[in-house]
Amino acid sequence: MANEMNVPTVKLNNGVEMPQLGFGVWQIVPDDRAAAMVGVAFDAGYRAVDTAKIYTNEGGVGTAIAASGLRRDEIFVTTKLWNNQQGYDTTLAAFDQSLGKLGLDYVDLYLVHWPAPINDRYLETWRAFERLYADQRVRAIGVSNFEPHHLRRLLDSSNVVPAVNQIEFHPYLQQHELFELHNELGIATEAWSPLGQGGPLLKDVVIGAIAAKLGRSPAQVILRWHIQLGNLVVPKSATESRIRENIALFDFELSKEDMEDIKGIHRGVRYGQHPNDFIDDF
Ligand code: NAD
Repeated sequence: MANEMNVPTVKLNNGVEMPQLGFGVWQIVPDDRAAAMVGVAFDAGYRAVDTAKIYTNEGGVGTAIAASGLRRDEIFVTTKLWNNQQGYDTTLAAFDQSLGKLGLDYVDLYLVHWPAPINDRYLETWRAFERLYADQRVRAIGVSNFEPHHLRRLLDSSNVVPAVNQIEFHPYLQQHELFELHNELGIATEAWSPLGQGGPLLKDVVIGAIAAKLGRSPAQVILRWHIQLGNLVVPKSATESRIRENIALFDFELSKEDMEDIKGIHRGVRYGQHPNDFIDDF
């Protein structure tokens, strides 16, 4: 299955098909700017959007969806529960708020944004997620920033295996342990900050050499690498030309050698917080 830009889908562990490439909207604020950029992304062929309560732009995403003229079932919407709303009743209330902001009657994928282990509420939070799933208010449920020990603890006490774990993942942070574990457990790996937040990775000499050889941009080479690994991927840009560039990935391929060369530049560099420590719940 593919849309007009030939974006493939990944079949999640409950059979739901999710576009492999989506549009990330972190830091695209306020709502009217988010609405404009998501509109550009839809026009460029994106059909999946990755937002979150904490991004404060679910309203803008909803405006763009309403204005798009696309059928609801042509669009895949992910949002996330923020840390300070973890817990059973608080999760159910937060979900209603997100749905209201988005102007939707279901979301495609709902994620626990961080395990926030110091609060130790992610197990009861997950029970609320299971309830939302059973009530068919979400098509799939998953987590984000879960380390192997968080995932194992969750699985030990729950009925639904997360469909997705969305984690920081790029050529400088290749997440070998989680990648293997996800494959073992049937959890899809979704890469956040897939371009390393637009930092030094885009100037890496190995990436640059492959880009020059193929006549593609460094961003396209990196995103294509994610696609060939099988990752779900949600690059962000608020520049129209880059939004279009970042989806033009399905008419070229990296060779086995290119994939190996990129494998070799892993450095264990993290641009975001470590999930074991992140306790910020403003
Ligand atoms: P990213 O790796 O997608 O990098 C985005 C930056 O890269 C842009 O701001 C721009 O500076 C640059 N860029 C983008 N396209 C480019 C191009 N074609 N050429 C040159 N430069 C380019 O970083 P991100 O925004 O941190 O991550 C993407 C998405 O992942 C977010 O929008 C959000 O949806 C999600 N995310 C999730 C979490 C989480 O905790 N679950 C955390 C961070 C991000």
